[in-house]
This record gives sequence, C-alpha cells and structure tokens, in this order.
Amino acid sequence: MEIGIIGAGYSGVSLAYNIYRNATEPTHILLFERRKEHGLGAAYATTHAEHLLNVPAGSMSGLADDPDHFLNFVLRDKRAARYIRMDQPLQDQFFPRMVYGWYIQSLLAECQTPSARQVIVELVSDAVIDAVPTDDGFVIRTQNRRVIPVNKMILATGNAHPANGLLAQVPARQLIADPWNYDAIRSVPRDRTVLVVGTGLTMVDTVIALKTLGHGGPIIALSRRGLVPQRHESLGYGGTTGWEPERLRHLRRKIRGAAQTRAAAGGDWREVINTLRYCTQELWTGLTVSEQKSFLRHLVPYWESHRHRLAPEIGDKLRAMIDSGQLRIMAGKIDGIDSLPGANSLRIQVRPRGGGSQTRVLVADYVINCTGPDTNISRSNNPLLQSLLRQRLIRPDIHRMGLDVAADGALINGQGESSETLFTLGPPTRGRWYEIVAVPDIRGQSLRLARRLLTLGSVPAAT
Ligand SMILES: Cc1cc2nc3c(=O)[nH]c(=O)nc-3n(C[C@H](O)[C@H](O)[C@H](O)COP(=O)(O)OP(=O)(O)OC[C@H]3O[C@@H](n4cnc5c(N)ncnc54)[C@H](O)[C@@H]3O)c2cc1C
Repeated sequence: MEIGIIGAGYSGVSLAYNIYRNATEPTHILLFERRKEHGLGAAYATTHAEHLLNVPAGSMSGLADDPDHFLNFVLRDKRAARYIRMDQPLQDQFFPRMVYGWYIQSLLAECQTPSARQVIVELVSDAVIDAVPTDDGFVIRTQNRRVIPVNKMILATGNAHPANGLLAQVPARQLIADPWNYDAIRSVPRDRTVLVVGTGLTMVDTVIALKTLGHGGPIIALSRRGLVPQRHESLGYGGTTGWEPERLRHLRRKIRGAAQTRAAAGGDWREVINTLRYCTQELWTGLTVSEQKSFLRHLVPYWESHRHRLAPEIGDKLRAMIDSGQLRIMAGKIDGIDSLPGANSLRIQVRPRGGGSQTRVLVADYVINCTGPDTNISRSNNPLLQSLLRQRLIRPDIHRMGLDVAADGALINGQGESSETLFTLGPPTRGRWYEIVAVPDIRGQSLRLARRLLTLGSVPAAT
C-alpha cells in the first residue's frame, strides 16, 4: 500500500511512526514537507531556547501507548539532557520547544530504519499543490513537478496562518503577518514601538522573542478582551472528577463552582481544569450545535486563557515586562489604521472594551499579527486545500474551524459522504473535537488513524 502524508509536523511524523510500527504488510509511506526540515512544523522550528513548551515534559510523550517516551528521550539525548534542571522532578519541567523538535526528528530517524516487513518511510521535500482522485486513491502533484500515485492520502497540514483582516491596511514593511517568521521579528529596530494584535500564546511567544533579541522599545498587546494566558502553578489533578456531557449552562456553572470550592479548600483552580483535559472532547461532542456556537462566541477567550497556560518561567518574564512598563496589555477593538503624515509611524484607532463609541489613538511603528490561525478553510492559501475544496472532495466543518471529518478521521466531501481514501488529523479536526491541537490530544488520534488505515489497506480496492 502507498500512503501519502502531507505535512511533517508532529501529526504527520507521529502518524508515519505509528503506521511503521503497526504495519504487517509491505507499506510505502511518503511523507511530504514543504519546509526546509521534516519534523518541526510551526511549533518546534524555533531556535530560541527561551521558547518553552507549554505542557510539562511528563505529558509530552509523542506516543499514546508509551507515556514516558519523551522523558526517556531527554535522558538519552545529549543535546536535550543539557536542559534538564536538577531542582525539579523531570516530569514537571518545561523544555525548550526546539528540544521537542529534536524528539520528533528522533521518531523520524527511528522509522527510517529498514524493516523486515518492508515498511518504508520516504521523506519528500516538496510542497503538494494538487491531488486528483483515481480508481484506487489519488495522484499527487508537487511544486517540483513530481507526480506520485498513492492509495491513501492524509492531510497533516496543521495550523493555518492568521488572517490579516483590518491589518491589511498596514504597509507591508511595517506588518509581520506571519508571527512564526523569526527573521522578520529579528528585523524590527530595537527602539521602536510594536503593536502585537492578539494576547494569547502566540503573543507571549512573540514578546519573549522580541525581548530575547534585545528589544527595548514599548510593546502594546491588544485583543478584544485583553485576556492573557494564565501561568501554570499546580500540575496536579483535583476537585471534581468523572465529568459527564451536560447542557452548556450546567457545565459552566459546575466548572466554576468546582474551581471555587477547590480554591477555598486550599487547592488550586488549575487542578479542576486539569481534570477536564481528558474529557473535553466528550464534553464538546455532547453539546448541541447551538451550544457549541454559543461557547465559541462567548466563552472561548476565557477557556483558552485558563486551559492553555504558560510555563512558570515564561509567566514570570511576562509579568516582569508588564511591571517594568515595557509591555502594556489592552482590551479593545481596532477601528481603523493609517500612516501618520510625514512619519514612519502608524496611527491605530482603538475602541477600548466597555468604552462605548469612544476611541483612543495608539501610535506604533510595527504591527505583528498574533490573532491565531485563520481556520476558515475557504480562505486558505494552501493550494492543495484549495484544489480539494474546488473538487468538492473536502468541505469546511459547521463552525468553520477546519474540515468536516468523520469520527475515524475520514474527510467528508461536498455531498456529505465520508471518504475511504482521504483522511486528516490534528488541528484541521478542531470543529469535530475542539481540543485537538496539542500533542496530548493528537497522539491518541494518530494511533487510531494508523490502525484504521491499515485495516482499510488490507481490504482489496473495489473494482
Ligand atoms: C507556537 C506554538 C507552540 C506550541 N506549543 C505546544 C506545546 O508546548 N505543547 C503542545 O502539546 N502543543 C503545542 N502546540 C500545538 C501544536 O499545534 C502541536 O503540538 C503540533 O505541533 C501540531 O502539529 P501538526 O503537524 O498538526 O501541525 P504543524 O506543526 O503546523 O505541521 C504541519 C506541517 O504541514 C506542512 N504542510 C502544510 N501544507 C503542506 C503542503 N501542501 N505540502 C507539504 N507540506 C505541507 C507545513 O509546512 C507544516 O510543517 C504549539 C503550537 C504552536 C503554533
């Protein structure tokens, strides 16, 4: 069987690894990646050691059936071992994200070892730009004009870039539209005022990168609610366990109540949120579509800032920048942007939250877009996704958070039928599972999808 996996971030590599380990018949896996290196994706390509994982090492195993796999890697790998701290249990430590990139690449190296079962993982450094269905799969076309037939194709294309929206009015030389472009961040003059739009984890990353590069100028971080990710404190679990799917308003009340009770008993609200980690997908799928919509409209910023937290060291650095006055967090909405006449600065009109129609003017020299991935696939600039959409082989999910997908990862086409040859995993499945962006959520999905593909593979293709 020929399997084409498009994208070699964590999702693509872990899927290739799981197929490699579980296949019992000859299988050829082609792992396509458009970046310079396989195995890093957007999250782990950073070379800043200050960019830490936001999940403790003990929860970062890349393999669903081997919980200590990442811990064993850091103990074994000489480069990674340099980052082990002696003052904390290993499983509670937050490692640099680049260490995790090395870890993913070690998985890749392992599954390139020739196997007696004739399972081969071939790395293809090329962007897939198109795929056309055939009788027994797809013909894949790449930017470098390769044409490759496969029996199954899996979209492991990860997170999209943010949408520019109003920021499109910022002259290109003053706008960093891709917050993962560290070269662009490096090029910002150190004394200039920077406006970061968005106050989530990407903002934190960007601000830490600026600081590490010696930025001394003011930084303003703006979002509608001005909510910044909370800091990890307790990594334990506690309070209510055994959460069951319920109506949204009951859940909301119960979660808040459990967190307050936990805090009043001398515990930490985070322990309650931690217990939710393992059942969030069940709770999400137990909501009606209109409850899901209501959650997305009103509760997401609160959920995200409490659920996806900062490593304590990062939380401390951010606090120090706020306390020193260098970083200002603002809640408000951008109303308009123009250039100041005769100057290289921008004038940004902001309507502060709760301030009615009153506007304030901010002056900044550079703008960095940290508003989060644009999940609306119909605006994607990925030629492959555009082509599949045009052919009606895929369609957006009901919330436009990614792709419409069946429970087993099969993509659903424009007619509402699920495919036996086209699959996805990771961030594109957010509409179905909601919490499916981080490694602890994707690893189980990856193992299940590998097994599913191998079962399908053993069935002869219909003629
Ligand atoms: C900055 C950041 C920090 C994060 N930190 C953590 C963390 O600490 N812990 C955690 O658990 N999760 C973290 N995450 C979540 C992260 O999304 C997952 O951990 C994981 O990296 C998702 O992997 P992925 O392979 O699905 O997506 P990606 O990493 O986005 O990889 C997708 C890959 O597909 C490639 N691709 C796309 N289209 C094509 C095409 N047409 N042809 C060829 N290649 C293509 C892209 O180049 C990319 O390399 C973080 C995310 C970000 C963005």
